[in-house]
Amino acid sequence: MSDVPLAERGLVRHPVERFGTTREGRPLEVFGPLACGTPLVLAAIHGNESETTVALSAAVRTIAVGGLGWAVVLAANPDGALLGTRGNAAGVDLNRNFPTSDWRAGTVLSHWSSRTRQVVELSTGIAPASEPESAALMELIERLSPPWILSVHAPIGVVIEAEASALGDVLASETGLRRVVKVGYQTPGVLDLWATERGSRCVTLELPRITHDEAVVRFAPVLAALLRGDLLN
Ligand SMILES: [Zn+2]
Repeated sequence: MSDVPLAERGLVRHPVERFGTTREGRPLEVFGPLACGTPLVLAAIHGNESETTVALSAAVRTIAVGGLGWAVVLAANPDGALLGTRGNAAGVDLNRNFPTSDWRAGTVLSHWSSRTRQVVELSTGIAPASEPESAALMELIERLSPPWILSVHAPIGVVIEAEASALGDVLASETGLRRVVKVGYQTPGVLDLWATERGSRCVTLELPRITHDEAVVRFAPVLAALLRGDLLN
């Protein structure tokens, strides 16, 4: 199946389904096939990482209807995306809200900008999976039982996975990004660990600190090849 011509890439044409509702009442949407066993990719669980949505959307719009092999969540935190915040509308860092063995109530520190230290305070939530966005994502993952989960973040510029996998191999070789087993700070309650503890493989792709345009140029083709099924058996 050939790529969608550039002139026709203005719309996301793949079938869409609502899989939940945000804290502010906005729809949580997933595009593409939803059969059990379908791999899942998601962007912008941190609402201020909109370059991940833009690159993933460009990849999806490159692929003709019927050619998408993955379920795709373009914005896992739509409230945060619209508010421009890392956390959701309740100030919870959704990627610290999953019911992992290491989840704990508390404060999550994040950067105000690349020129500051981690001092902006978010929370892990009042309980594991307290937030509608993380609970809905968990339900979607239970339903899909995806063999692979790819979570796209920015701006560290690495491929993160606890143990080397075929997906991590492909991403490291196709993007040229360095592979690491974890980031250098404490991350309790993350999606990766929750997915691993339930038997799915989850890889985090951290885009580098680049413009939205460069994210499309450098990463949309790799993501499109992956979502078409060209890179993993
Ligand atoms: Zn992030």
